[in-house]
Amino acid sequence: MDHFNYADGVLCAEDVPLTQIAQAVGTPVYVYSTATLTRHFGLFRQALEWTDHLVCFAVKANSNIAVLKLLGDLGAGMDVVSGGEYARAKAAGVPGDRIVFSGVGKTAGEMRQALKGGIRQFNVESEPELELLSQIAASMGLRAPIAVRVNPDVDARTHAKIATGKSENKFGIPIARARDVYARAAGLPGIEVVGIDMHIGSQLTDLAPFRQAYEKMADLTRALRADGHAIRRLDMGGGLGIPYTRDNAAPPLPIEYGQVIRDTVGGLGCEIEIEPGRNIAGNAGILLSRVIYLKQGEGRDFLILDAAMNDLMRPAMYDAHHDIVPVIQPGVGASVRPYDVVGPVCETGDTFVRGAQMTALAAGDLVAFRSAGAYGAVMASEYNTRPLVPEVLVSGDQFAVIRERPPVEEIIARDRIPGWMG
Ligand SMILES: *Cc1c(COP(=O)(O)O)cnc(C)c1O
Repeated sequence: MDHFNYADGVLCAEDVPLTQIAQAVGTPVYVYSTATLTRHFGLFRQALEWTDHLVCFAVKANSNIAVLKLLGDLGAGMDVVSGGEYARAKAAGVPGDRIVFSGVGKTAGEMRQALKGGIRQFNVESEPELELLSQIAASMGLRAPIAVRVNPDVDARTHAKIATGKSENKFGIPIARARDVYARAAGLPGIEVVGIDMHIGSQLTDLAPFRQAYEKMADLTRALRADGHAIRRLDMGGGLGIPYTRDNAAPPLPIEYGQVIRDTVGGLGCEIEIEPGRNIAGNAGILLSRVIYLKQGEGRDFLILDAAMNDLMRPAMYDAHHDIVPVIQPGVGASVRPYDVVGPVCETGDTFVRGAQMTALAAGDLVAFRSAGAYGAVMASEYNTRPLVPEVLVSGDQFAVIRERPPVEEIIARDRIPGWMG
């Protein structure tokens, strides 16, 4: 469920007609709903209310500090994967003891930054990382709280580019090596072992891979405890999928996912962390765009929009599908026709969908890409010197620009002509 619905024939974000936002801010623009973000965060909290837990929002899904502050004020923790994301979480007012640091390539500088600013735990992904973290923490007179990210070698049955829990993926330590790595960790002066971490992939639409992975985590918890490690926290990762079309069967609900966690690791007395990103933000956002031209092609019509692959990369990168709907509600029984929906970027890959059955549209009409609140704006670039797409947050009948569209002059002003060119 989300809060983007038609009212009086116009698609609205909560109580704000998207036509009003297009007029005030221009297009393309991302629009997020406070009510949807709040609702989805609440569903995860509810799914874990049987135990001590922290829902850490995966910042990489949507890192705008207004979104982070909204979730942080509701009690969310944050899962960050870079020093930049760590700084964003802090800028949004999230305390360090609610920030988890994940990622395979943490640098010495990032480790120092997080140790200095406060950190709940590092999810360590390799032995060299463990050694470096210990050195740095010890040099600061600290012990870094860690969980080792364990790769359970399960097939997440999702798109290859977002599967992370198979042994061939770059993530985590093979589960067979986990006991050795924990033994090493326990002997390091700058390390404090607090738990175990896993994250097997994104956009999972089936609970079976989670169950398989979490059963392995339960076994590992028992084995590590028998080895003398104080395992008190389990980080289950993120990855629960969302419906990207209204026709498909909906993925499992957070409450069902919570039940899998309870069934598998619920009896171990551990504090539970989860790191959902897409499931909180995905259906809380749309990308609003305007039709520039309707171009008649050979046997097909192209709808050329002012949004492009640089603004919403998922279709070009993952062959992802987003429903594209008209902002002005079509009349009942309006006829549909096939369109190839494309952007202005000079790449054939700048195609959002081919042969989509849509009601007739014309130049100047507004459309909305649904389910664009996660991995949308965060992946945007300035390719073709198209200014970074702005973002708007709606709450009830109010809306605010939470990231401005930069003027082209500002983009060009970042470049420098070397002195020797005169
Ligand atoms: C990407 C990622 C997440 C979030 O995944 P979603 O599919 O958006 O829920 C959580 N944890 C880690 C370590 C990640 O890399």
